[in-house]
Amino acid sequence: MKDFKNLLREYARLIIEVGINQQKDKPLVIQSAVEHADFVRLLAEEAYGKGCEEVIVNWNDGELSKLRYNHSPMHVFENIPPSTVEKFKEYDKRDAGFISITSEDPDLLKSVDTKKVSAQSKATSLALKEHYDAMMSDEYCWCVVAAAGKDWAKKIFPELGEEEAVSKLWDEIFKSTRMYEEDPVKAWRKHIAFLEEKVNWLNEKHFRYLKYTNAKGTDLSVELPEAHQWMGGAGNSRKGIYFVANMPTEEVFTLPKKDSVNGTVYSSKPLVFNGNLIEDFKITFKDGRVESYSAKKGEQILGEIFAIDDNGRYLGEVALVPFHSPISQRNLIFFNTLFDENASCHLAFGQAYPTCLKGSENMSPEEIKAAGANEALVHEDFMVGTEDLSITGITWAGEKIPVFMNGDWA
Ligand code: ZN
Ligand code: ZN
Repeated sequence: MKDFKNLLREYARLIIEVGINQQKDKPLVIQSAVEHADFVRLLAEEAYGKGCEEVIVNWNDGELSKLRYNHSPMHVFENIPPSTVEKFKEYDKRDAGFISITSEDPDLLKSVDTKKVSAQSKATSLALKEHYDAMMSDEYCWCVVAAAGKDWAKKIFPELGEEEAVSKLWDEIFKSTRMYEEDPVKAWRKHIAFLEEKVNWLNEKHFRYLKYTNAKGTDLSVELPEAHQWMGGAGNSRKGIYFVANMPTEEVFTLPKKDSVNGTVYSSKPLVFNGNLIEDFKITFKDGRVESYSAKKGEQILGEIFAIDDNGRYLGEVALVPFHSPISQRNLIFFNTLFDENASCHLAFGQAYPTCLKGSENMSPEEIKAAGANEALVHEDFMVGTEDLSITGITWAGEKIPVFMNGDWA
């Protein structure tokens, strides 16, 4: 039996080896809450062990963010200082890898002015657009991982005391990242091979449409661009480094044709946007655009996503995840996209991954748009997978082939 200290060390090693695939003489940027300083030190040790040139940490703190939102005036959130922009340019120039540790309290920003939060996220997306575009195109290696934040843990396990909740959440993180396997690195290689098999099958079929139906009332048709390709598991950065962008990851995904999504889809899990919950919502699309929407809870927040950028009303991602994935089996709502999206088939409002278009590395932004990819300042996943979801692929020749039956791979 592995004890917690060993598990955490092995988890750090897995992230550095398989996740970011740290290269010699390259810097590594880590974004983390101060709460996880011990874990960040382990990551740094492992990275230096691989010959990392420099580990740079951008610390944040939930409580401080909240204070800032409550006290700083609006203009602070509308302007990103040039020094921040310069800093990211410098990272990109140095060909840094990026590890982002997610651990935030889903309720953190519940009581703050959502206009400030939206202004901040819009200003950041605009100011760091080059950096984020480069990330979406896998110009460099990046990896999003989780650590058990105490407020996040208490949100998932409100019945437990703080310490117990945190260790329970670590346990869930370790389960979802296959850390209890004898050799997690080996287990990951096997898992990635399974995802790649699905990717290859979908690419071979080259479906024109996916049709979603379930008993909730979902009846959605999604057209895929002719040049689409499915991705999942691991991928190569532009510089040919094999990395895993999300740990855990259970999804294979591609992009929809921006103006050719029609019908209605029902959410199957809550969506957390800027710390606010949107629950039980339904969206109707016409020619790709959200024509109408309603939610039992947080309907106005849904409107705020769309207000950031009108292209947030179009889809940018189609992802397939079996209903019986290990994370789904946990039967928990994590209130965190990294986990909840890997528990369920999902779609995303907003920005598409250009890498899901064949030959995108040689295409101009105009050509990428013309090929059907959505471009937006937001990318928000929402879950649509249910136990009875069926997805039928329709080929260019009109042949219908089951892709998902009863929530799982057909
Ligand atoms: Zn996804
Ligand atoms: Zn996504």
